[in-house]
Amino acid sequence: MTYYLLDHPNPNCIDRGDGRYHGYMVMQAQPVLITVHTTESFADLIAPDTGAEAVANYFATTSTPASYHTIVDSDSTVRCLPAGLDGTICHTAFHCWNRNTANLGISFAMRATEWPTVDQAWATKALNRAADEVALWCRRWDIPARLVGVGEADAGMAGISGHGILQPEDRTDPGAATVFAPSLFPWDRFIGMVLERLDGGEDKDKDMPALLCNIDGSIYGCFADGIWRMLGGAEFTHWSAKGVDQVAYTKDEWATLRGWGRVA
Ligand SMILES: [Zn+2]
Repeated sequence: MTYYLLDHPNPNCIDRGDGRYHGYMVMQAQPVLITVHTTESFADLIAPDTGAEAVANYFATTSTPASYHTIVDSDSTVRCLPAGLDGTICHTAFHCWNRNTANLGISFAMRATEWPTVDQAWATKALNRAADEVALWCRRWDIPARLVGVGEADAGMAGISGHGILQPEDRTDPGAATVFAPSLFPWDRFIGMVLERLDGGEDKDKDMPALLCNIDGSIYGCFADGIWRMLGGAEFTHWSAKGVDQVAYTKDEWATLRGWGRVA
């Protein structure tokens, strides 16, 4: 698993000795809150959707101290800073004024006002990606998939909130609102999508590989635990239909890039 802001040092960011990115290498308290954002850039509706990548690149170049743990768009999930998955140390991102400790940030690469007008297939894909990520965070840190208001957050209640909820004085993302209802962001639907994943059962997507890799004709998937596993044809068809990115290597290239040691 790679993290964009660790892989792309920001020349305009002060060097704190642990890399050049807007954030801290160690979060000082265990995450209890997940804050949902929109990036306030326009959704990229023309394939390939590079909205999330563009925002990640912005964070890797700007001198403004800002970052999220993860950004999603319709066809990608860009992890910017580690949130404790895959054995990583949970980093602090700078996404919520005065509330970045114990708080994980996820953002949709779009404007809050676009929810009613954006292509609904685009929205569904992006929501699914965010729900996948948030469910992993909930499971990792034992955060319940429930909405948490500013007073509850102040009282230390664990759950999911929005930037405009926590910082109403100058933010309205992700729903162009400072309350959960009315809001342009589909809070109930989103929480439902996260719960679906946490409940397991029907949900096959919780084991979605991050990448499909064709190595001399054999298909491997890279899973959240960092292990590569050979996939059967039906699995490959399922995940490629879900839009999981694919790369192809020869065995020699692969051995050079990753080594065979981690392939299960
Ligand atoms: Zn925000």
